[in-house]
Amino acid sequence: MNDNYLMPTYARQPLNFSRGEGVWLYDTDGQAYLDGVSGIAVCNLGHCHPAVTRALTRQAASLVHTSNLYRVEHQESLAAALCQVSGMARAFFCNSGAEANEAAIKIARLYGNRRKVNTPTIVVLENAFHGRTMATLTATGNAKAQAGFEPLVSGFVRAPWNDVDAIRALADSHDNIVAVLVEPVQGEGGVRIPAPDYLARLRQLCDEKQWLLMLDEVQSGNGRTGSYFACSAAGVVPDVLTTAKGLGNGFPIGACLVSGAAEDVFGPGSHGSTYGGNPLGCATALAVVDTLTREVIPSVNAKGALLQQRLREALSGVAMVQDIRGQGLIIGVELDRDCPEIVALARDRGLLVNVTAGRVIRLLPPLVINDEEIALLVERVADAVRAFVRQQEAA
Ligand SMILES: *Cc1c(COP(=O)(O)O)cnc(C)c1O
Repeated sequence: MNDNYLMPTYARQPLNFSRGEGVWLYDTDGQAYLDGVSGIAVCNLGHCHPAVTRALTRQAASLVHTSNLYRVEHQESLAAALCQVSGMARAFFCNSGAEANEAAIKIARLYGNRRKVNTPTIVVLENAFHGRTMATLTATGNAKAQAGFEPLVSGFVRAPWNDVDAIRALADSHDNIVAVLVEPVQGEGGVRIPAPDYLARLRQLCDEKQWLLMLDEVQSGNGRTGSYFACSAAGVVPDVLTTAKGLGNGFPIGACLVSGAAEDVFGPGSHGSTYGGNPLGCATALAVVDTLTREVIPSVNAKGALLQQRLREALSGVAMVQDIRGQGLIIGVELDRDCPEIVALARDRGLLVNVTAGRVIRLLPPLVINDEEIALLVERVADAVRAFVRQQEAA
């Protein structure tokens, strides 16, 4: 086996998994790894959750795809379930986070053009991540990811993170703003948690200016931050809410939800996706939403608090650790220097973690993790960090 026929777009680790169960992944040599990544906030119910496997296999045996030329019963049910947990009014289904954000960006454009705004412009934030398609790459606040792909898409203006006044000030220099697109918690950007009143203040500003508040909950949603969507915990209903990642627990599905001023923007012919919302994806996601809501989300905040507390205890004497922060079960351990080596050091200890924004160890364990597994996760993280400190001190 070799990767000669793959485009080298990823610097892959030398691991090849053949099986997963709960928080555990097993490689082809039978070695077990505690999963602190969940396929990048995707397998929130853990690997091969029986309710998801059952829904997926049952639906695969009866009907996989028909297209959006016809009604799709499971799509209607999933839309209702997502609107129920979010307070949103309608859903459009697609197949990824970037696609969900593309839908949001198109809604903002159409909303602006209908209101006769000349070159409608969307406010996006520094260090944001919204995807890899041309428009979402433009919205992403990472010069390295954008380099070489110019010309980027027009119609975006950038503001600093967690600064509502800076966004308000943009209105003085730009009379064409129609929407603000933000992540309630920045994941790729380094597990950044905003002030507690941030979303509520953004909601107020958008109401005042008649801008659409568009929240990217691709990573923060589906229980990851302790409620089904992070905006609900903040008591905020946006105009546009996008999600993907955890929605299918590994089955590729995304959604763009609308309410209020955005509810009636799209009509017949405005947007589409051939696969989007097919019976297989929607039956699977319905099982995910149902299981998350009834069995898993109620304990996420307690687990997150325990994990953070244990990490603080285990890493208390380590000077290189600058901050431990999180919301629900997205947790960042920030060091005082870049630490890509942590990934391999953790792997040697049977633990999968991701390092983002250079120096932030990002922990995204499956939400079904139990107390014993939390203790093991902390032990292995602390062990890897101490090994990194020894390496650095020896160098
Ligand atoms: C991962 C991510 C995306 C992109 O999702 P894809 O499914 O990879 O296209 C968009 N926004 C946020 C906040 C993400 O974390």
